[in-house]
Parts: sequence; structure tokens; C-alpha cells
Amino acid sequence: MLVAAALLGAAAAPAATHEYRVTLSEDLQRLDVVARLDGSVRHVSARRPEARDYLAEAYGCDGARLPRTGSRLTSPSGNLTCFTYAVELGRAARANSRLQAFGPDTLVLPVNDWLWRPQLGGNDEIVVTFDLPQDANVSVPWQPVDGRPGTFRLRSSPRSGSPLAVFGQFDASVVSIGEARLRIVALPSRRGPMNPAVADWIGETAANISLAYGRFPNPDARVLLFPVTGRPGGSAVPFGRVVRDGGETVELLVDPDQPESAFLGDWTATHEFTHLMLPYVGRNDRWVSEGFAQYYQNVLLARAGRYSPDEAWRKIGEGLERGRRSVPHLSPDEAASAAERNTRMKIYWSGAALALIADVELRRRSGGKETLDTALDRLQACCLPSRRTWTARKLFAKLDELVATPLFVDLYDRHADAAGFPDFDEYLDAAELAEIRAAITARRYTDRPGSQELRRHDRK
Ligand SMILES: [Zn+2]
Repeated sequence: MLVAAALLGAAAAPAATHEYRVTLSEDLQRLDVVARLDGSVRHVSARRPEARDYLAEAYGCDGARLPRTGSRLTSPSGNLTCFTYAVELGRAARANSRLQAFGPDTLVLPVNDWLWRPQLGGNDEIVVTFDLPQDANVSVPWQPVDGRPGTFRLRSSPRSGSPLAVFGQFDASVVSIGEARLRIVALPSRRGPMNPAVADWIGETAANISLAYGRFPNPDARVLLFPVTGRPGGSAVPFGRVVRDGGETVELLVDPDQPESAFLGDWTATHEFTHLMLPYVGRNDRWVSEGFAQYYQNVLLARAGRYSPDEAWRKIGEGLERGRRSVPHLSPDEAASAAERNTRMKIYWSGAALALIADVELRRRSGGKETLDTALDRLQACCLPSRRTWTARKLFAKLDELVATPLFVDLYDRHADAAGFPDFDEYLDAAELAEIRAAITARRYTDRPGSQELRRHDRK
């Protein structure tokens, strides 16, 4: 115990803590930043080249102007310990035409359009405190510091996606899923705030992820809900993605005007939340992350009672069939890196076949004691949320370390670079595996009071 405590203590001690104070002007048009670094650096940089277009001015705290080259601000003395800069925030937000439809009092823009920062290694962190005008709010992907509203902790993270910051007016709620807290930000449309029932429903859907192993995979994630409207008969959640830079955010486009049946039939939100059960694997390995998400979204929607077990297995079977027919001359690795356009089903379902095979095999070999759920439970306990980018092979090697009967690397090595498709028929159809399949999709309940809602719905 003492050793564990000492190790945890060591891991928690940051190597460097930089302090940022960020002041938002009354009219939301300008950000002023004072950055005090722990130690000195030669330069700081912005992660998006556009940032240089909105940077108004930058000085060292000694008053010397900081020259900018590309996306870098370099100290003339080579010892930058403190600097200030201002950003034309309104202009930056207006430049992102995709992000303009949220009413005049809400600014949405990439964090990396205004954040100039030193490199963060290991346990380094930037503690950012916002000074906001009365009634204005801020949302960033970074971890909130307990007891200090408006203060966040930014640490190293995978460079996956471009995270968004929101300033001004929006609805924010925190949903508890066991020990985890999910910060849900619902952006207004020009017509007004989003129907709060949508954020409730998203919270329920996120809670269903705990039907895999009893908790949500990230104790502190964020959800951004963007309103879209005007698609009669359309999907309740037409698009979603996960951004990991700065902390994990699930971004979802939602159509608050869709009827309840459209929300209950949606799988996009479940799919995106399911991605958080694995660390970020690079783009060429995305057939693994997409495949695991395809498998689990169907399994979890069955466990939640939104699909019947038969419906879930039919969807898995049809998806795998589409995957098998898709670009059979390419391996999953080739499909994920290919320029060909019709590789989507291969990318989305070859990894799902591996997830199915692994799940059934683990259960068969262990008499049901080990499952894909228990493997991912241990993966979460050791390694998530992860601050780095993994390779699929490393991920599978880690999963093998976490189970009694390793099989993941073998599956990976046999299929990642092989044309054709993993042979899944036995796992879907064999009569002697029916009990195992039934156990995978058997109904389960979250311990959230709100899940009564879905249970009620179920009885109709
Ligand atoms: Zn996905």
C-alpha cells in the first residue's frame, strides 16, 4: 500500500506548472492572456496556423515585443519566463463559418486559434484561470480544478482533432455516471436555448456505456451538443466525433425537433461514447477503434433494452456481411490508409469481427469469467484516459497482458495486413455458442435513477 501510495504521489506531482490568466472582454471580442511559466523556454507555439491571424500583440513581461515566426513566438533573449498576449476573439470566431449559428452571445472557436503554449512533457501542466464578464460562461476540454470555478488544468494529450472552446451564453450541466462526471454543453440555436430534454437524453445514453463494466470510461469527459434543424424524417443525431486534444470531448450534432422515437432509435451517440473505451489509436489503425465501437454500440443498446437481442445480432450480422463484401482485395490496414473511397464498410466492420471473436473466445475459454468487458475494464483501470497515441498492436499487446488466455495479438497479426475478412460465421451462427451470445446481449440496468425513464419506455 505504501509503495502504491508513493508511486501515485510521484505520478501526481507535476514536473512543471505554468499559470495562465485569461481575461475575456465585456463585449466578448477580445482575450487578454498573462502566462507565467515554471522555468524558461525559448519559444511558445500555437497548434493551428490560423492563430497567427488573430494574435493582436505579444510581449515578454519585461516589455520586449515577442517576434512571431509562423506559429511560434520566440524570446529574443532565449529565456522566456513570462509573457502577455491579446487575441481578437470575435474575429477568430467569425472566421469559422461552420461555427457561427449559435446566436450573438455565444462564441465557438478552436482552442488552438487562441492558445499559445510551451511544449508539455510528461506531467507538465498549464493551470488556466478565466476572468469572465458577468453572466458569461466558458467551456474547454481541460479538466476543471475542484473548488476553483473557472480554473482548468491542461496536460499533454493525443493530438487528435481540434478541440473547441465556447464563451458566453450556453446551457451547461454536469451528469454523474457513478463516480464519473460528464460536462454537457448544449449550444443555443438562433431560436433560443436547446430543449433540456435533449441533454437529459444524452446523459442517459452516456450512462449506458457503463453497461460494459460498471462505470464510464473517462471520469471527466465533456460533451458538446450542436443544434441542427429542419430535416423532417431525419436522424436525431446526424453526426458525431470524438476529439482528444486537451481532454476527451464527444461532439454531437443533434436535431431537437425530431420526435422521441428518433432519439430512441439513434445509435450515433452510443457509438461516439463507446470510442472512449479505447485509447486514441492513430488514423491508419482506426479500423480497430471503429470496429470496437460498431460491435459495442449494438451490444450496449441491447443491454440497455433499446434493441432486442435478436435485433442487435441481426445488425451485427448485416454489418459484418457488408464489411466482408467491401474491398475484399484490401487488408484492414490498407483500407484505413487507402485513397479509395469505398473502404468505409471494411474499416468499420473488420475490427468489429475481431471484437466479436475475442469476446466469444474469451467467454468460451474461461467459462464466462473473462469477457471483452472484463478486458476493457482492466484496460480502463490501468490506462484510460490515456495522454498519448497508441498503435493498434500495442493496444492488443496490452489487452493480452490483462487476460488469462491471451488472444488479441494473434488475432491482430493474422488479420491486420491480410486481404479478405476475418471468418466470423461460426461466432454468429453456431448453435453451441447461443448461450454465450445470449449472455453478451442480456439486459442489464445502470444504477442511475434516470434509467427508470427508459425502463418505463420499455414496457409500452
Ligand atoms: Zn466512430
